Amino acid sequence: MRQAETTRTVNLLKEVDVAVIGAGPAGLAAALACAEAGVSTLLIDANDAPGGQLVKQTHKFFGSERQHAGTRGIQIPSLFTEKLANYPNVEIMWNTNASGFYDSGELVLEDEKRFMKILPKRMIVAAGASERFLIFRNNDLPGVYGAGAVQTLMNVYGVVPGDRVMMIGSGNIGLIVSYQLIQAGVDVAAVVEAAPCIGGYLVHAAKLRRAGVPILTSHTVLAAHGQESVTGATIAEVDKEWQPMPGTEREVECDVICLAVGLMPLVDVLWHAGCEMKYVPELGGHVPVRDENMRTSNPKVYAAGDSGGVEEASSAMVTGEIAGISAAKSLGHQAPGADARLAQLKADLAAIRSGPTGEKISAGVRCATVCGGVWE
Ligand SMILES: Cc1cc2nc3c(=O)[nH]c(=O)nc-3n(C[C@H](O)[C@H](O)[C@H](O)COP(=O)(O)OP(=O)(O)OC[C@H]3O[C@@H](n4cnc5c(N)ncnc54)[C@H](O)[C@@H]3O)c2cc1C
Repeated sequence: MRQAETTRTVNLLKEVDVAVIGAGPAGLAAALACAEAGVSTLLIDANDAPGGQLVKQTHKFFGSERQHAGTRGIQIPSLFTEKLANYPNVEIMWNTNASGFYDSGELVLEDEKRFMKILPKRMIVAAGASERFLIFRNNDLPGVYGAGAVQTLMNVYGVVPGDRVMMIGSGNIGLIVSYQLIQAGVDVAAVVEAAPCIGGYLVHAAKLRRAGVPILTSHTVLAAHGQESVTGATIAEVDKEWQPMPGTEREVECDVICLAVGLMPLVDVLWHAGCEMKYVPELGGHVPVRDENMRTSNPKVYAAGDSGGVEEASSAMVTGEIAGISAAKSLGHQAPGADARLAQLKADLAAIRSGPTGEKISAGVRCATVCGGVWE
């Protein structure tokens, strides 16, 4: 991105070895790896607390113990921050947005009061992903929510979004949030899914079915009803091309329509940094072309977690640590045993991405990885 004229104060702060954008699972793991390698590290997050998506995940994680399986998502951030507190080479900036990256290598940060510039030798972008929306009649009525917003309302602020929810999308997010709604005493009218089969883990779907929630595959939402806010919805069956089939429309009574229809990588700063980008539907949209160490085509810039392609918190922690170790190594610093750890992490990543759900991700990652696995 080229530098533009600005009338607001810009303070040139300082140089830092590695700037990590985002303190979700990927950014926390990246920052800790940098800290352990002994490089000066600046961790930046727009929120006022660590964890990214984890702050609303009250359920226990699956997978490997190395990625905190069995621990509740909300407990994971403090495991990292407790360790980070031992490293004087780490600084954390909360409530700070990384808003631009210039050709000169300067990263622009802004908080409530000021713009700041820093000059990182390396940058790790771990900004996560944003929710997708869906086009249907009256989709702007109050009562139409994204699943992340519903989760934040309930699990962070202790507020339920309504009395009766219709969930759109049967991926893990739709299934988990539906179950959390039930736990909070909210009625879930149905889970509506356009694909012919359930997208998420069957263990989550089974819990919903046991609670009496119908999961309607090959269905979609056509309209929201209501004047001031949602009072119901029209759904219909869809054909193989996901087109609504006339005559199958039916009304569902609900005061919330919750959309869990996928996430899109947040990659703005990667575009600014001139990284080569590729549209990879399996990874949720435009992602940076990277090597197996998460280095992008800009040799000073690394990507990690959902910014590199929408996956899960477990893989976010692994790609974050890979990016952290690799960025520090490129500056000539590494913790004892770093090479063995890197090999272990790559094996962990392959294991996480194995199995039927991982196949799609693996295909996407192959497509986004530079030919030969490392940049020449
Ligand atoms: C309902 C739900 C359930 C899930 N369940 C599981 C599960 O059981 N197991 C699992 O492994 N995964 C699960 N996931 C997925 C997992 O939460 C995400 O894949 C993971 O959080 C991605 O980590 P991340 O660090 O890449 O991004 P995030 O967690 O999204 O963190 C990104 C951080 O970057 C910050 N940020 C963004 N842009 C900027 C900027 N410009 N400047 C400064 N800061 C910025 C954000 O504030 C945020 O804190 C679930 C997700 C959801 C929504």
